[in-house]
Amino acid sequence: MSETRPTAVSPVTVSPGDGTSGAGTSDVITSRAVTSPVVASHRDAQADSGRHGNPEDVSIVRPTLQEQTTRPPDANLFHIIGASFAIAMPFVGLLAAMIVSWKTGWLDATQLAILFVGQALTGMGVTVGYHRMLTHRSFQTYRPIRTFWTVLGALAAQKSPIEWCATHRKHHALSDKPGDPHSPHENAPGFWNSLKGFWHAHAGWIVTGHLIRTDQQRYAPDLLQDPVAVWIHRTWEPVWFPLTFLLPTVIAWAITGTGEGALLGFLWGGCARVFLVQHITFSVNSVCHLFGSRDYQASDQSRNNFLCGLLSAGEGFHNNHHAFPTSARHGLEWWQLDASWYVIRLMQLCGLAWDVKLPSAEMKHAKRLQASDTLPAASAAVLESATECGIHQP
Ligand SMILES: [Zn+2]
Ligand SMILES: [Zn+2]
Repeated sequence: MSETRPTAVSPVTVSPGDGTSGAGTSDVITSRAVTSPVVASHRDAQADSGRHGNPEDVSIVRPTLQEQTTRPPDANLFHIIGASFAIAMPFVGLLAAMIVSWKTGWLDATQLAILFVGQALTGMGVTVGYHRMLTHRSFQTYRPIRTFWTVLGALAAQKSPIEWCATHRKHHALSDKPGDPHSPHENAPGFWNSLKGFWHAHAGWIVTGHLIRTDQQRYAPDLLQDPVAVWIHRTWEPVWFPLTFLLPTVIAWAITGTGEGALLGFLWGGCARVFLVQHITFSVNSVCHLFGSRDYQASDQSRNNFLCGLLSAGEGFHNNHHAFPTSARHGLEWWQLDASWYVIRLMQLCGLAWDVKLPSAEMKHAKRLQASDTLPAASAAVLESATECGIHQP
């Protein structure tokens, strides 16, 4: 939130620690970052330091014993209906878009541009804005740019920044352990249970209500002090959720000047785009805790999945991310394409981002798993099911 810009703009490193070094000590930023003008002047970090596992970083929270052993109760009917609508409506809209376009002559350049430009912008709103900037504080930027990314994230139909960040920080605190809001490893072994686990991690957890049960005071105290985040949080349902469908409708109408153009703008730029952005994010939670490679030591079943990485602007290199949560870069190899990192790096080169956190070569070396350490997914799943809590600790 601070706009006080440090004089040096060199990358800030993150520590190699994660859950393996003790609860709450994961991903400690270096002393340079802690004492930098930006972080040191962050009033929320200082004000809330006493309530967190790591006193220097409010994005890291030590889970309580109750959180580690108790699954929150399911949501009430009102929440279930609302959440189901938010997930089902874009899917129904996508089907309608295909039917209408089939009858009217498929997609023209206007609809394609509104769909993919909207997807790139709101997708990056989640990856660069909600995830790397707000949740993990991987970099600092000026207030107008922070607002720009936060607003784009709000238009991705994935709830308010405060709800998103609090839930995601809880995921990191309890990843693949009891209390994790969306682990696919909750159930007993068996095909149907595995399928249920996949659906729970993908979208089921949003419907059953884990999202609204995250303690925001505990997991996002810094964002509760952020006026923009609070404003969007208070107005998300009546303003930002409808706006994400209304905007492409109005833009398409302004370009085409026809009601049919506006309808296609709503269906492709609104519904189909939200469907894509939602399910790409959901896949990071489901696919990337099940399928892919484990290159770094992390206290969970996170995986690097190249296809998800490509589709999600770098977020699919999820094992890298769980090993170094505050790193602004998730694709740590040159071939792990990470579009979100390229944007952050460009901002840094232009002087618009600073305190950009990256793991050092030593940290990566210390956590690097050898081929013999990496279990194939199937073997890992068998070992998981054999443990009492369903989680295999590597
Ligand atoms: Zn994860
Ligand atoms: Zn994260």
